[in-house]
Amino acid sequence: MPLTPAGSPSAAITLRGLSKHFGDTRAVDGVDLDIADGEFFSMLGPSGSGKTTVLRLVAGFERATAGTVELAGEDVTTRAAFDRDVTTVFQDYALFPHMSVLDNVAYGLRVRGVGKDARRKQALEALGTVQLAHLKDRRPGQLSGGQRQRVALARSIVVRPKVLLLDEPLGALDLKLREQMQVELKQLQRDLGITFVFVTHDQEEALTLSDRIAVFSDGRIVQLGTPREIYEHPTSEYVASFVGTSNIFDAATSTRLLGRDATHALRPEKISLSGADEVDPGTTDGVVRAPGVVTESIYLGTGHRIHVRLDAGGSLVVLEQSTGGRVAREQRGEKVVASWSLDDLVTLT
Ligand code: ATP
Repeated sequence: MPLTPAGSPSAAITLRGLSKHFGDTRAVDGVDLDIADGEFFSMLGPSGSGKTTVLRLVAGFERATAGTVELAGEDVTTRAAFDRDVTTVFQDYALFPHMSVLDNVAYGLRVRGVGKDARRKQALEALGTVQLAHLKDRRPGQLSGGQRQRVALARSIVVRPKVLLLDEPLGALDLKLREQMQVELKQLQRDLGITFVFVTHDQEEALTLSDRIAVFSDGRIVQLGTPREIYEHPTSEYVASFVGTSNIFDAATSTRLLGRDATHALRPEKISLSGADEVDPGTTDGVVRAPGVVTESIYLGTGHRIHVRLDAGGSLVVLEQSTGGRVAREQRGEKVVASWSLDDLVTLT
């Protein structure tokens, strides 16, 4: 996905200095952002970090305190929600309970004055896209959560919006359905070529689905990049800890352990463990070997999560994948040496 230069015509959404204050709360605080046409873009952050408010500002459900919203290069900051070429899928689906699935999907077309036959044909097509045409006569109350979610999606795509805003749309689903819907969402977005803006606090979901991610904190974007950039090169302790698990070495520990006076992050899967009698501690050939003691070993199914207290101070979380019948030997109290490559350390600012 090409990065969109500021203000370029291929930007589906351009935000400049966008702010929304509720009394003393700066829900959104000076956000600058360009989302490219056809991009699957995620806004990721903890509860209260301002993601939903940004989405509502783009949709036109909130008025900005300051700044501008452009859609396809046109300033829509003061335009009403119905006058913007975006549709929103909410977490609670917001389906009409008294209408059939087909009528729910056709509703947006009816509002737009599309004739009855054309409406039915297009609604059936949209239901086909989410593989639910066979349930067209049911009411929402007669569907499973995942099916209701797909109806909500069909209802949104039937009007062919340029931009689809999704506010935690998978939040109410169980893990298995969620994973299935993630795959379907991604395929749908690819097939339709619509720009998706996806709000989630689930970092794994954001990493799986997105072309790019904006990580939010306190109404601001603290890092913007591809999933790989965000995961492999977090620029702050906040991002390193929020997106996946990170071991953080503060400056004092880094100095003792690495001879470097800066804060560092290290992913648990980059560390391997050996018995204390198998390798010598110390740093050689770009590999750090730090002795310590196992304080916890937790079975995860796919592997083990092992906590190690380092002799140099501080502790580590290590993720050992189960491969080919290998069984983690590490037990609580066992002396081990944790090894990792200097290349895998990320320096934080
Ligand atoms: P969540 O994941 O919980 O939905 P979020 O990151 O989407 O959180 P927002 O819903 O955008 O966060 O809220 C950002 C901040 O703005 C929060 O502190 C919230 O309490 C506040 N806020 C949001 N809407 C209003 C409102 N209508 N009136 C007052 N404060 C609000």
